[in-house]
Amino acid sequence: MDRIDGLAHYRARFFGMHSVGLDDASGGASGANPVAYLDGNSLGRPTLASVQRITEFLTGAWGTRLIRGWDEEWMELPLRIGDDLGRAALGAASGQVWVGDSTTVMLYKLARAAVDSRSDRTEIVLDTDNFPTDRYVLEGIAAERGLTLRWIRPDHSGGVTTEQVQDAVGPQTALVLLSHVAYRSGFLADVRGITRVAHDAGALVLWDLCHSAGSVPIELDLWGVDLAVGCTYKYLNGGPGSPAFGYVRSDLQEVLAQPIQGWMGTQDIFEMGPGYRPAAGIRRFMSGTPAIVGMLAMQDTIAMIAEAGIEEVRAKSVGLTEFAISLVDEWLAPMGVTVASPREQTHRGGHVTIDHPDMRQVTATLWAHEVIPDFRAPDGLRIGLSPLSTSYVETYEGVAAIRDVLRGILLGRSGLLEP
Ligand SMILES: *Cc1c(COP(=O)(O)O)cnc(C)c1O
Repeated sequence: MDRIDGLAHYRARFFGMHSVGLDDASGGASGANPVAYLDGNSLGRPTLASVQRITEFLTGAWGTRLIRGWDEEWMELPLRIGDDLGRAALGAASGQVWVGDSTTVMLYKLARAAVDSRSDRTEIVLDTDNFPTDRYVLEGIAAERGLTLRWIRPDHSGGVTTEQVQDAVGPQTALVLLSHVAYRSGFLADVRGITRVAHDAGALVLWDLCHSAGSVPIELDLWGVDLAVGCTYKYLNGGPGSPAFGYVRSDLQEVLAQPIQGWMGTQDIFEMGPGYRPAAGIRRFMSGTPAIVGMLAMQDTIAMIAEAGIEEVRAKSVGLTEFAISLVDEWLAPMGVTVASPREQTHRGGHVTIDHPDMRQVTATLWAHEVIPDFRAPDGLRIGLSPLSTSYVETYEGVAAIRDVLRGILLGRSGLLEP
């Protein structure tokens, strides 16, 4: 499967992959590379291009240009990268995406701006399976603004459907906040259908793209999305804590007022005038000095996605998740493991979650053996498959390791394990 994979050569562009990885899932120049890295959806691997880019940045742009770097490049960088990302992976025309604060802070800024623009309405619709930070931020906004949260309760191994949103929205709905790909189950929501239903009720939508950006094609403009945010350290390989991106549809930019009014979002930054006068366009959603160092690495993955094509990236992603599920069915289902992700590929993002009461222990043992998935309570093991860096061999070795560790635990408990 690796030999016929048209994207297999991208694996060699990541740090530690000295070969294209066809026969050598563990290959790493440092020798410290995991046997199987199944967590690229939580923290992507660094590219070789980023190693070079960051080194050159230290000794070049920062080291020698110093403060001049702001005029020469950095002031525009959050918007330039935003445009590149919008074009390569988000279906967003230029001038609508910027790279800014953490996802959490961006959620706050955009959700607050959205509910304030619908101040005659009293409810926010969201779901109980959304990522904790999304729920917590909205709890805070609801308390701040005296709003009610209306919770959708999706299926454990599924996600929020258009019908559920239809039932939840009404003339009282100010905002709908949902994730495109559910962080636990991997359910892929129908952004277009749900956005239409929310708009029919007069509400705004804010989509969290953390688990889809860079692995699932997104058409924000075409789908009529109002607002979106997403992480860059997951499938976009920006590195730990790299700043998030935000999208505000162009016709909403002058209408919305974001709550963290900072100098970097003003018309004439170095006027340092007496009062806040927001910049025209997407810049007004910026607050403080942008994290330039943090936005270096993501540029290399955005360029790779542009080169490979997001549709091709998705095809590989579907191939990897289908393969992982077939191995789970063959090897793990007989031991009582269940697939807690959609089996239908059109309803599934880039990762697969499998449930078993022993998964906490399985995950800990795997980490000790250089096989790195992650655990999601109460009993889920998440297999994250990053299309540009994960090979089929790596997927095979990873699921085989899960099988061996789980078998060991079950046999040990039954007293059948031979010394
Ligand atoms: C990873 C993730 C986040 C993380 O937010 P941070 O502010 O970067 O910590 C938020 N939402 C979703 C859906 C995520 O998957």
